[in-house]
Amino acid sequence: MKKLTGIPASSGIVFGRAFLYLEDNFPEIPRNTIGKDQVGGERRRLLGAIEEAARELKALNDRAVREMSKEQAAIFETHLMMMEDDDFTDQILKRLETDLINAEWAVRKISDDLIRKLAASTDSYLRERAADISDVSGRILTKLLSITKFSLADLEEDVILVVHDLLPSEALAMNKERVLGLVMDMGSRTSHTAILARAFEIPAVLGLSTATREIKTGDLLVVNGADGVVLINPDEKNLFQYEQAIHQYHAMFDGLLAQTALPAETTDGCRFRIKANIETPGESEQARRFGAEGIGLYRSEFLFLNPEEVADEETQFRAYSQVVKTMEGRPVTIRTLDVGGDKLLPEFQSADEKNPLLGWRAIRFCLSLPELFKTQLRAILRASVYGNVAIMFPMISGIEELEQALDILEEAKGECRRRGQAYAPDIKAGTMIEIPSAAMTADILAEKSDFFSIGTNDLIQYTLAVDRGNERVSYLAQPTHPAVLRLLKGIIDTAHEKGIPVAMCGELAGDTAATALLLGLGLDEFSMTAASIPLVKRIIRGAALENCRALTEEALQCSSYHQVSALVEAWMNRFFPDD
Ligand code: PEP
Ligand code: MG
Repeated sequence: MKKLTGIPASSGIVFGRAFLYLEDNFPEIPRNTIGKDQVGGERRRLLGAIEEAARELKALNDRAVREMSKEQAAIFETHLMMMEDDDFTDQILKRLETDLINAEWAVRKISDDLIRKLAASTDSYLRERAADISDVSGRILTKLLSITKFSLADLEEDVILVVHDLLPSEALAMNKERVLGLVMDMGSRTSHTAILARAFEIPAVLGLSTATREIKTGDLLVVNGADGVVLINPDEKNLFQYEQAIHQYHAMFDGLLAQTALPAETTDGCRFRIKANIETPGESEQARRFGAEGIGLYRSEFLFLNPEEVADEETQFRAYSQVVKTMEGRPVTIRTLDVGGDKLLPEFQSADEKNPLLGWRAIRFCLSLPELFKTQLRAILRASVYGNVAIMFPMISGIEELEQALDILEEAKGECRRRGQAYAPDIKAGTMIEIPSAAMTADILAEKSDFFSIGTNDLIQYTLAVDRGNERVSYLAQPTHPAVLRLLKGIIDTAHEKGIPVAMCGELAGDTAATALLLGLGLDEFSMTAASIPLVKRIIRGAALENCRALTEEALQCSSYHQVSALVEAWMNRFFPDD
């Protein structure tokens, strides 16, 4: 038996057989020699891939014409022309036939030659075309490779998935019914893949560095997502202990679940709102089951990352309406598209941005594509007639971005009126506070915001300069670092002075080690992965606000994260000795 220890990313204990999934993570272009009799087959494969890629580009181009800028549409048009250029195809075919090589390798060779020539040109226009060739050949290669590629959506047996890294879009697409547990070399607790694992209630241990080297497909694994432990081929005794632990865990959780409908009220009578974060419309049912009083964060971008469906206005309207109707009048806060970083929208974004987390993300992306943004806003506005909807803007860095977003919201309302489409006229618009500059100018932003929602995942990342997806530096992502506590206090106090409520929808809101501190800081509303609600409610119902305030005052005097943690631990031992 071997034991690996990583980052506990999604609680729950499970055991099962490992499935090592590497193909997508190390995409190498294979070079195969083919016989003369295989040329016809390779030729057909190539032409089929080009046709499929061209169809995809045509759809993107049509959408760009409808919803995006002229410049964006022109890019797709150029790529389509290149892809349909007979000369380009003939060169690849000739290479395939004379060198007797597989289609992928021929595409790679011809595009590399062209890119080299263009990149060496003295003409800047020609130099820029090198990137277009790379994009076009990449699309053809994706089609060619996917013909033989195994998709996680096709998983047919129950497995514990072992991967080097998994994009949020891949996690979204996998057959979740079959994934009992997730084990990953990369990633950390607030990476979006971890957030999705929690939303899907899949126990997960991330940041293990060497899991894909130590585990083979078929190994028996125990995954303890609460402690961050993975056992490889445990003996009978260990397995028995874990079976007992699984029963205990379920019994404890069922006990909490039975009480989750009770209000989140402290022992001295102060009531707080507890809502759920969701990534897909279906999760709103789960949110209700766990006792959520509303949806505090709907990460709408996951609708756009689903390769099965184009997120046009009607698709969005249907999804948003489904959530709003399921919540039956309870509040639903829909966050506008937050792509970029680790959630790339392949039609627009490429992985070659130097600093994606500081780059073309979230509101910046939306403000640069106003038609796409307005389409989303109209869909949200139209869904607002079915219940209690609020809009919130992610990654606001200063007042000008907020004003631009609000102007576009007004334009979207005007368009709805002209089209005769109803919306709730009093719909609220809030600002996510997840960049230090927004925290520091909270007084200015509050003037134009109906509410704040603190995104601690990004706020911690940007305040402490720690990439939230990088397991090597995850020890520095200290959620109650004195710098973070001071920022939180500033945001909450300022908002209250300006008369607006403050929610928190970052992972810290669902962390029971922080609940007392957040109560003491005066947070009005907590929004979290649904499965965390019963645990957080239990702390709130067992605490007195007066004691929490005293704890927070002391914590604000601490000089390090470790001091704060020790203080909170002692407090929890005193008031929650059974935890
Ligand atoms: C956050 O940053 O805390 C947040 C809630 O948004 P996301 O995790 O989707 O970036
Ligand atoms: Mg964020």
